[in-house]
Amino acid sequence: MMQDMYTAMGISPEVYEYGEQTLASLKDRFDEIDKTAEYNQLKVLKAMQDCRVSEACLLGTTGYGYNDIGRDTLEAVYASLFHTEAALVRPQITCGTHALALALMSNLRPGDELLSPVGKPYDTLEEVIGIRESRGSLKEYGISYRQVDLKEDGSFDWEGIRNAIHPNTKLATIQRSKGYQTRPTLSVEQIGELIAFLKSIKPDIICMVDNCYGEFTQTIEPTDVGADMCVGSLIKNPGGGLAPIGGYIVGKKDCVENAAFRLTSPGLGREVGASLQVLPSFYQGLFLAPTVTAGALKGAIFAANLYEALGFKVVPSGDAPRYDIIQAIEFGTPEGLISFCEGIQYAAPVDSFVTPEPWDMPGYDSQVIMAAGAFVSGASIELSADGPIKPPYAVYFQGGLTWQHAKFGILKSLQQCVKKGVVSALLCQK
Ligand SMILES: *Cc1c(COP(=O)(O)O)cnc(C)c1O
Repeated sequence: MMQDMYTAMGISPEVYEYGEQTLASLKDRFDEIDKTAEYNQLKVLKAMQDCRVSEACLLGTTGYGYNDIGRDTLEAVYASLFHTEAALVRPQITCGTHALALALMSNLRPGDELLSPVGKPYDTLEEVIGIRESRGSLKEYGISYRQVDLKEDGSFDWEGIRNAIHPNTKLATIQRSKGYQTRPTLSVEQIGELIAFLKSIKPDIICMVDNCYGEFTQTIEPTDVGADMCVGSLIKNPGGGLAPIGGYIVGKKDCVENAAFRLTSPGLGREVGASLQVLPSFYQGLFLAPTVTAGALKGAIFAANLYEALGFKVVPSGDAPRYDIIQAIEFGTPEGLISFCEGIQYAAPVDSFVTPEPWDMPGYDSQVIMAAGAFVSGASIELSADGPIKPPYAVYFQGGLTWQHAKFGILKSLQQCVKKGVVSALLCQK
């Protein structure tokens, strides 16, 4: 019966069977992910109960938003969950880049230096920092930047970091996820080691972690190992697929207050900012986030193992531990990359009938192809894939609101690769 349904959805018996074979070897990994989700589900629930979330918290405010009990309680929930003094969780924070820019711009002053001890930050931060010239960058405000690259093997360059810390090094930005680079993603334990090292050299350095894509992949978060601030997007993991917008900053009271005064206005800070109608999705999304993240993790591992066995290079490898939800697959040819994205699109609940095509996206030096059929526009916690049309023709794949949907999307991508002749050996396999 199951196979009949897959057939009805365009998956051939060979592709289905190949998927089942791959899955059979992943049982232990999946059990481990379910354990993490189970722990994190209780962690979220405990924070909600401890903060006495009530029905009244689900109502919104308008106008100035004074005394918005739902907003203030949600921030208390985030602070409790991340074990921090304070939190800022707002629909007025438009995306992850905005949240990161806010945290940086509000905690740095002219003459200060920003340090990235983990190499190049996420693309969009280049303009925030001023690595690429931009209006209103940190550089324009007299805030300098220094970067220490990771070593060839992905480890920290301890000596380089020591030498890069000066009296005006005010803040270190640590990106947990590899994003769209090929370096390994950092575990929370590694981040803890790095923070301890930074603080041993300069005790008052503010350690900020870009937590995008990392939330709930482990049972601890960077704020549990010494991070002064953790920053992320609500249309990724912690929004659970339900939050339609938003970002968060959790951490030390001073750091979060600085961000609040910058987001609204000096003097007003967290007191204003109406929540309108978004709070139910923020609460419910956070409640679902541990299991949604688990589904996305299973999807990434399934895709890695499926395509690795077919001879493609996958990053991380099929057996690597996971600290974020992104999976890269190198196809080596444009056809492979395009076929994969077509399959993901055809598996979507929204816009499944359109065919994605490479286009000249502003800011990129090659064409880019993207597949996304999401309920929340651009939400990368939903099943999505994209990649630049240039060697090594790598696709970056992530998300899936449920494991079952992620599985179907990956099988659909493989079916499309078979159809286009990108994968042929599959049919001969036992
Ligand atoms: C997605 C992401 C960002 C930026 O978030 P946007 O919501 O796309 O602006 C920053 N850092 C990392 C590591 C990310 O994955």
